[in-house]
Amino acid sequence: MKIEKISKTCVLGTDFHCAGLTYTGIEAIVFIPKLLLHPVNLSLLPVLALDLDGTLADYSEGWQGPDIIGEPISEALGTLTHLAAFGWRMFLFTTRGVLDPVIKWLIKHRLDQIFEGVNILHHNPPQCSHKPIFDVLIDDRAYPFCGRQLTSEDWLQIREDLTEDEQWREKVRRAREFSQDRGVGS
Ligand SMILES: [Mg+2]
Repeated sequence: MKIEKISKTCVLGTDFHCAGLTYTGIEAIVFIPKLLLHPVNLSLLPVLALDLDGTLADYSEGWQGPDIIGEPISEALGTLTHLAAFGWRMFLFTTRGVLDPVIKWLIKHRLDQIFEGVNILHHNPPQCSHKPIFDVLIDDRAYPFCGRQLTSEDWLQIREDLTEDEQWREKVRRAREFSQDRGVGS
């Protein structure tokens, strides 16, 4: 069940009651950060989508279970606070399906004051698919940011990186090792 508007005080319980309905199995959560309490045209602000494991949280031990999330990677929290002050809107996207530990982790590190949502972009127009609209994605598995349309030269570079470049092949091997023994974190 997808819940599109929810306060952070509602997400820690198993069920969420709203308008006479009981929701179970929360798949997506929208916080209401302090930023949104101020009148601002949100469509003018850049959107940052972020991964959790290996990006914000330490994942050097690989998958440890749904209730175990690594400590924040050094400088990550300070950087997000800095970006938020510059007007970036932030959304977290994770392959973790059990979100209560994720919410507790965000609250513990005061990131619920910065992130607007988990696994949802509530400003996606209704005709959109589930792919979130964002300006920049930060993910430990993402290919480097271009900020423009890919060119044929980019695609030739991708071909070389992923098939011939030994450093890249080693990166992929490491990523695969974590993928093969993990649960759902990535
Ligand atoms: Mg990751």
